[in-house]
Amino acid sequence: MTVILRAVNVSKTFETKNGERIRAVDSVNLSVGKNDFICIVGPSGCGKSTILRIISGLEPAGTGSVLFREREVKRPGPEIGMVFQDYSLFPWLQVIDNVAVGLEFSGMKKRERWKIARHYLDVVAMSEFAHAFPHELSGGMRQRVAIARAFAKDPEILLMDEPFGSLDAHTRILLQKELLRIWESHRKTVLFVTHSVDEAVYLADRVVIMSARPGRIREVLPIDMERPRSRANPLFGRLTDHILQRLEEEVTGRSI
Ligand code: ADP
Ligand code: MG
Repeated sequence: MTVILRAVNVSKTFETKNGERIRAVDSVNLSVGKNDFICIVGPSGCGKSTILRIISGLEPAGTGSVLFREREVKRPGPEIGMVFQDYSLFPWLQVIDNVAVGLEFSGMKKRERWKIARHYLDVVAMSEFAHAFPHELSGGMRQRVAIARAFAKDPEILLMDEPFGSLDAHTRILLQKELLRIWESHRKTVLFVTHSVDEAVYLADRVVIMSARPGRIREVLPIDMERPRSRANPLFGRLTDHILQRLEEEVTGRSI
């Protein structure tokens, strides 16, 4: 495994307005290999989003560091892309411009930007909506556009923070399949936060199980199943049960 990203002893403490100190992340160590698909699960408020923000360079680590190809990540850069839960599309831009928006900064001409945007809209089956506006799309369609935008920028690593969290179950399963297909054809490295254990076992090469706050890595569980995976496979059920049990222990504070 070629390691391209490492979190080394990353901790973070926030100070609230009334002076209270909240330790959100505690001594997280994680090595991410090229083309890995890693899912992070953990109790609500355990610091999952904070870890992703630190890895992306949006938030400084309190102590410790994040290394991308052994160089410290200090600010957001083109090598690391991010997809959030709430689509974060620009409402005043048509779909194709929403996908192309990250490319302007690299000084590319509009014709070239649109060519790339069209390709990725095609990949996420949204070509016919290229000139629609975000408010004309369903939640699932908007999230497809957000994924197309993230891939269009061609980052080596894609960070996804509960990207399918607000979608209905059917759309969610459809987009999980599509994401795997794009990941396989475009060879990306993905770090994916989810509160759905089913989603994690369906998608990941390895599932990182976090403890309750302050978030520590409790266990890293390899998912040794061929893709496409079947939820009817008994191993799928056993792995899901195992993770659910760990999470329940974290929430109730005792072994069960
Ligand atoms: P998760 O994504 O796992 O639900 P978060 O990373 O969003 O958790 O938050 C972890 C903890 O840190 C929570 O208790 C949250 O309230 C706190 N927190 C996150 N961001 C801030 C901030 N900017 N200021 C103060 N507290 C924060
Ligand atoms: Mg979160």
